[in-house]
Amino acid sequence: LSKTLGRNRYSYFTPELQASAQNRLRLITDLRGAIAGEQFRVYFQPVIELATGRIVKAEALLRWQHPQRGMVMPDEFIPLIEETGMIHEIGEWVFREAVHWAQRWRTGRHSEFQISVNKSPVQFQKEANGHIGWLAHLEELGLPGNTIAIEITEGLLLDADPAIVGALLGCRDVGIQVALDDFGTGYSSLAYLNRFDIDYLKIDKSFIGNLTDNPGDMALSEAIIVMAHKLGLKVIAEGVETAAQRDLLASVGCDYGQGYLFSRPLPPEAFEALLLDDKCFA
Ligand code: C2E
Ligand code: MG
Ligand code: MG
Ligand code: MG
Repeated sequence: LSKTLGRNRYSYFTPELQASAQNRLRLITDLRGAIAGEQFRVYFQPVIELATGRIVKAEALLRWQHPQRGMVMPDEFIPLIEETGMIHEIGEWVFREAVHWAQRWRTGRHSEFQISVNKSPVQFQKEANGHIGWLAHLEELGLPGNTIAIEITEGLLLDADPAIVGALLGCRDVGIQVALDDFGTGYSSLAYLNRFDIDYLKIDKSFIGNLTDNPGDMALSEAIIVMAHKLGLKVIAEGVETAAQRDLLASVGCDYGQGYLFSRPLPPEAFEALLLDDKCFA
């Protein structure tokens, strides 16, 4: 028995796994210096109103400009900053950046411009009765709550932790909007769309990718849009990469689209140029 166990245990330590464990440790070490080194960046990806082809919103997306590795994407380091608790400080910083740029961009025909920020479940744990710094910042600048939308995932609502629900409701009280991200990939319970007063549904990009050649995904997307509208929610399709996808979505009344067809996520200066350009994506 011990021999079998020994062999099984040995098989866990493949060179690949050891390398990735080392890689992980090195990333965590590097992350500790990344805040002080000002290596984080916030990129902005436009959200287009499909009926008009105009940019009306943006999603803030975190990037890590690593001095040797180059640009590190969130899927690689967000789990690490969640585990180490760094997400609280970094997440707050992302919100402050979003508030800063939103204030700058809400002028002229973009006076209603909104920026959405992703917030993972662990970020809610620390602020049950908490003072949220960026909210105060928003108020100081005299910006209305709907300048910012928070993107959450279905898992957060599934647990329905009273502290989390409280934190979410606190934001809603001052007019912050809420978007349900990656819709369709989790449990997708229709009950909590009503219960939690969600403003936007974001259809996950895995459905949008197959829209034109998978009738099932098209039917599902269309059903989500109809249902969302009946409940008074707006729908954002993520991962729109082709004009055919955009046209199909527009034809079934999808409100907004986001994806490489329109633009990749951009550094703030480049996003600002795109916004000022006032290009029509219809
Ligand atoms: P998400 O919130 O679902 O963000 C959408 C992701 O889809 C982004 O990946 C975006 O770059 C990508 N995307 C946009 N258009 C297209 C397209 O046409 N095709 C394809 N294939 N992908 C597209 P990104 O920036 O790598 O972010 C990954 C995830 O990391 C996000 O998924 C979000 O869950 C998380 N994340 C990013 N920034 C933050 C942050 O500031 N805080 C927290 N808590 N999570 C973040
Ligand atoms: Mg998102
Ligand atoms: Mg998403
Ligand atoms: Mg996601």
